[in-house]
Amino acid sequence: MARIIGGIAASHTPTIGFAYDEHKQDDASWAPIFDAFEPVGAWLKEQAPDAIVYIFNDHMTSFFFDHYSAFTLGIGEEYAPADEGGGPRDLPPVPGNPKLAQHIGASLVTDEFDMSFFQDKPLDHGFFSPMSVLLEREDGHWPTTIVPLQVGVLQFPIPSAARCYKLGTALRRAIESYPEDIRVAVVATGGLSHQVHGERAGFNNPDWDEVFLDAITNDPRSLTELTHAEYAALGGLEGSEVIMWLIMRGALSDNVRRVHSSFYLPSMTGISTLLLENEAQQLPGAGAERHRARMAEQLAGIEKLEGTYPFTLATSVKSYRVNRFLHEMVRPEHRERFHADEEASYAEAGLSEEERTLLRDRDWRGLIHYGVSFFMLEKLAAVIGVSNLHVYAAMRGEPLEEFLKTRNTQVIYSVAGRQASAAE
Ligand code: FE
Repeated sequence: MARIIGGIAASHTPTIGFAYDEHKQDDASWAPIFDAFEPVGAWLKEQAPDAIVYIFNDHMTSFFFDHYSAFTLGIGEEYAPADEGGGPRDLPPVPGNPKLAQHIGASLVTDEFDMSFFQDKPLDHGFFSPMSVLLEREDGHWPTTIVPLQVGVLQFPIPSAARCYKLGTALRRAIESYPEDIRVAVVATGGLSHQVHGERAGFNNPDWDEVFLDAITNDPRSLTELTHAEYAALGGLEGSEVIMWLIMRGALSDNVRRVHSSFYLPSMTGISTLLLENEAQQLPGAGAERHRARMAEQLAGIEKLEGTYPFTLATSVKSYRVNRFLHEMVRPEHRERFHADEEASYAEAGLSEEERTLLRDRDWRGLIHYGVSFFMLEKLAAVIGVSNLHVYAAMRGEPLEEFLKTRNTQVIYSVAGRQASAAE
């Protein structure tokens, strides 16, 4: 069974990444940042966790107001650094851990956290700023795998501190019920006190930061009583992102060992690191098995439904590339490219030979078996001028006329709009 070895919290100011990229280790103004991260980095190197659940918030880089979610779990194969305006940082993509992420995602939903899921998104300084100083790369390779958890703290309403702590306790159950014997660390980033907008920009409160660091270690539940307004009053509105630390803390045992703690205020934001070793006992009993059985309850028996293929997180990761290719059909330029030179558009999308063959053959049934969502098929159908009914009949392995006889009316339709092309 998986075990949580400890929790880490760290500020994620862009200054940390800047100091690292500009080699400021020996500069008096910047050196305290490296001193703060060094013991935590050494602990991670020594402990060598198999995976890190990494809680952070994006800063309107990859998660924008066009679709803003509270808790978004990364299920992808890897995560590259984002371009925040001046080009991405020179760091290799971090490997994900889709299998662990799928288990955690399913477990959290079972515990009634209605999660969002993402993949194929570059991540900004909320993620990479501390990451680049916490984990050493050898030959350009990160030493562990990451399950990112993005928390939407920038558009109110946002989750309460109490909700974050509760998510942490559910995260603990999720990790501790993972059947593989792996060692997992939980990292949360953000804070400490700062405000970067409005007339109050530049607000700091090191006294509160000290109280917060003590409370998150010794009395985290007390911190769940505070409102967002109280966090903003004490630590600045942007500093309220420290509620993410409560997710990490909720995943640990009540008793923890504080191995390291630091605080430094160079400019706008209190930069802090905190390392807590988990003192949780592995209790006897079949709690994890019972929890896994509950996780399996909702889809139990669905495998007996002939010709039915639920679209799961595993399917989503496996077939992401081809689903994305077909989803792009919502853009006129992509459709034009596809019509002009189908083979070239497959190549540009990096599709595998198997994927290309399925698309080339318009193998509707094969595409479903492969893990393509039906709602991608109906887009392709619209683009090539084929009706939905044609696709239904082909998936059933029947001639269109035969299938139509089974309907109350013999209508033909598709999702094609005004630009629909002529039938193939
Ligand atoms: Fe932030």
